[in-house]
Amino acid sequence: MSRATCYRCFWPQAHCWCEQIVPMGTATRYVLLMHPKEFRREKANTGRLTHLCLSNSEIIQGVAFDDHPRVKAVLADPSKHVVLLYPGDEAVNLSLSPTSPVTPPGKELVVLLLDATWSCARKMLKMSPSLQRLPRIMFTPSTPSRYVIKQQPFNGCLSTLESVHEVLTALAARGEDRYELPRQLLEIFDRMQQFQIKCAVDPNLGGYRRQPYKPAGERKPFTGKSSRRRANLFRFGDQPEAEASD
Ligand SMILES: [Zn+2]
Repeated sequence: MSRATCYRCFWPQAHCWCEQIVPMGTATRYVLLMHPKEFRREKANTGRLTHLCLSNSEIIQGVAFDDHPRVKAVLADPSKHVVLLYPGDEAVNLSLSPTSPVTPPGKELVVLLLDATWSCARKMLKMSPSLQRLPRIMFTPSTPSRYVIKQQPFNGCLSTLESVHEVLTALAARGEDRYELPRQLLEIFDRMQQFQIKCAVDPNLGGYRRQPYKPAGERKPFTGKSSRRRANLFRFGDQPEAEASD
C-alpha cells in the first residue's frame, strides 16, 4: 500500500476522502481555529474533514489569535456576527427553545471553533483575549460522543465533526440555517472510526494502537484530580458522569 499522503484531506492516498465528500453550503460560516498539534495529528483529526464537508468554512492554524491578520479581519467585518462555540454561563444554548435569533438581521453568522484537545483549547482562549470577549454559543449534545478513538474526558465532549453536526442541527431546528446533508458528517465519522479500529487490531500496520478500543459505554470515566480539571473545562449540558462518580 502506498504511504503517500493526500495533501487535501491528509489521509493516505489509498484512503483519501476527497472523492466521497460532497461539500455542503450553509448560511453560517465555520472558522476552525486549529492548534498546531491538532494540525499534525493526521488520522484522528476531524477538523480537516469537517472543513471539506462545508463549503462555507476555513481553517486557521495557531495558538494565540489576537494578532492573526485573518482572525482580525473576520472580527472587524461589520457584515458578520461572530460567536465562539464554547460553553459558559453567558453562552446561548442553541438546544433550548429560542427566545430570540442568534444572528441579528442582515448579518452573516460566523462560528469560531477551537479545534484542539480540551487543555489546548483552554490555553488558546487564555492567550486570545479578543476571543474571550466574543458572545458564546453552546448546545446540549443529542447523543453521547460517538468518538471511541480518542477517549473523551466525559460524556458530552465531542469531536469537531460531531460539534458542527450539533450546531447545524440546532440552527436548522431554529430556522436560522439549512442542513442539507445531515447524514454525511456522521457517516464520514463512522467510516473514519471503522478504519481506525481496523488499523488498531492489525499487527501488520505500524504506528497504530495495539489494543482494540472499547465501545464508549464500557470505558471507565476519568476520576480524581484529572477528572475535576477536565470537567471544569467544558460543561455541555448536564454535569459530567466522571465528576459525579468522584
Ligand atoms: Zn484526499
